[in-house]
Amino acid sequence: MGAKWFDMVLDKLSAGLKDTFRRIAGLGVLDREAVEAVIRDLQRTLIQADVDVKMVFEISKRIKEDVLKEKIPTGLTLKEHFIRVLYDEMAGLLGKETGRLELKKQRILLIGLFGSGKTTTAGKLARWFKVRGMTVGLVACDTHRPAAREQLEQLGKKLDVPVHTEGKKPEDIAREAVKKAREDVVIFDSAGRDALDGELARELKEMGSIIKPDEVILVLPADIGQAARRQAEEFNKLVGITGIIISKLDGTAKGGGALAAASVSGSKVKFIGVGEKPEDLEEYDPKRFLGRLIGYGDIQGLLEKAKEAGAEKTAQKIMDGKFTLVEFYEQIGSLQKMGSLSKVMDMIPGLSSSGMMKKLPENFMDVQEDKMKRWKFIIDSMTQKEKDDPDEITPSRISRIAKGSGTKPEDVRELLKYYKQVKKMLKMAGGGKAFKRGPFARMAKQFGMNMG
Ligand code: GDP
Ligand code: MG
Repeated sequence: MGAKWFDMVLDKLSAGLKDTFRRIAGLGVLDREAVEAVIRDLQRTLIQADVDVKMVFEISKRIKEDVLKEKIPTGLTLKEHFIRVLYDEMAGLLGKETGRLELKKQRILLIGLFGSGKTTTAGKLARWFKVRGMTVGLVACDTHRPAAREQLEQLGKKLDVPVHTEGKKPEDIAREAVKKAREDVVIFDSAGRDALDGELARELKEMGSIIKPDEVILVLPADIGQAARRQAEEFNKLVGITGIIISKLDGTAKGGGALAAASVSGSKVKFIGVGEKPEDLEEYDPKRFLGRLIGYGDIQGLLEKAKEAGAEKTAQKIMDGKFTLVEFYEQIGSLQKMGSLSKVMDMIPGLSSSGMMKKLPENFMDVQEDKMKRWKFIIDSMTQKEKDDPDEITPSRISRIAKGSGTKPEDVRELLKYYKQVKKMLKMAGGGKAFKRGPFARMAKQFGMNMG
C-alpha cells in the first residue's frame, strides 16, 4: 500500500500518529496526566502537518472528555477505548465520506486559482472516466494563460480524447462546446487568477450559467495547507462548488492539514492528485487514508475488539429483556441463521417445562422474507420513542403507523405481539442466574455478535 509519495511526504504525520497509538498501548497507568501527555504529543504532530490550531484544540478536548469521563463500553480496556476514540477523531478530521464522481452523462466545470492544477486535473478526470467506459470531451476555456489551450490539446492527444477549442472568449468556447459536444462527460477547464477577485467571480458565474454544470469542482493545491478551508469557503460562497480535488498531495507535508481544512469547509473532497501524470489521481477515502497513515493491521485488530465489545453489550441487554424494536428486528436475522429458536430453547433446563414454550407458535422465528420487509417499513414509520418503547404504542398509533408504512394494522399488531412474546420469554430466561452461563448465554452472545 505504501506508495512512494505517501511514504515520503506524509512520513512525519504517519510516524507521529503511529507513535501516539503505540504510546497509548504501552502506557502503564492511564490517568489524567498520562492522557494529557499523549494528547500533547498528538497536538504537536497535527500542528506540524498544518492542521488548524483551533481544530486541534477542539479535537483534544473531545478526546480528553471521552476518555476521562465517559463510561467505557464493556469488554474494552481503557486503553482500547482511548485508541477507538482517537481513531474516530482522526478519521473525522480527515473527512466524513468517500468521494468519487457518478458514472453518468454530465458536465463538469473545474475552477481554481493559477497553477492549482486545473488543467492537469482535467486530464486526470478524463482518463478516470475513460477507463470506466465513458466517452469524454475536454473544453479549453482558459484564454488568459499563454499556451493553455495547447497544454490541453496535448493532453487530449495523449489520452485520445477530443478537445473543444472553438471560439475566442471563454464564454464563447463554453457555449460552442455545450452546443456541439456529444461525449458522455464534458470537462470544462477554466482560467484561474492570482486571487478570487471580482473579475474571476463574474467570469465563473457567467460560465456557470452557460454550462449549467452538474459538478463544479474546486482544485486546491495541497501546499496551501490549512488555507484550503478559507479558499473553499470563499469559492463556495461566490460561485457554488459541488466538491474539491486536492492536487499535489505528493509534494508537501501539509497534505494532512489541507485535507482536514477542506473537509470542514462543508464541501467534500472527491479526489486527490498525487503526481503530474494522468493516472496520478486517487478517489479519496478518509478511512483508508487514515489506515495508510497508521498502518492497517494494527488498527484493524483493535477496532475488531471494540466492535465485539459493542455486540456483547447488546447481548447483555437482550438477556436482560431490555431491547428496542430495532434491535429485535436486527436479531431475527441472526436467530434464523442458528436454526429455530425452539430448538435452542429446548437446551435450556427448566424452560421447556415452564409452559412458556407451549404459548409460542410453531416455527416461531421462521419469519418469511416478505414479512421481514413489511416489518422494516413498519419500524421505519415509527417515532424514536415508539421504537424504544413499543409497549407504549396505543391503538390510534397503530393505525397511524400502518398508514405511514403502507401496511395493515394487523401487520403492526403482529410485529408488536412477536416483540412482546420474545421479550417476555427472554426476561424469564435471562432473569435466572443459571442462564447467565450455558447455552442461553451462548445464544445471546451469538446473536449479539452477529450484528452487522
Ligand atoms: P492550472 O493553472 O490550474 O491549470 O494548473 P496546471 O494543471 O497547469 O498545473 C500547474 C503545475 O502543477 C504543473 O506543472 C503540473 O504539472 C503541476 N501539477 C498539477 N497537479 C499535480 C500533482 O498532483 N502533483 C504534482 N507533483 N504536480 C502537479
Ligand atoms: Mg490551466
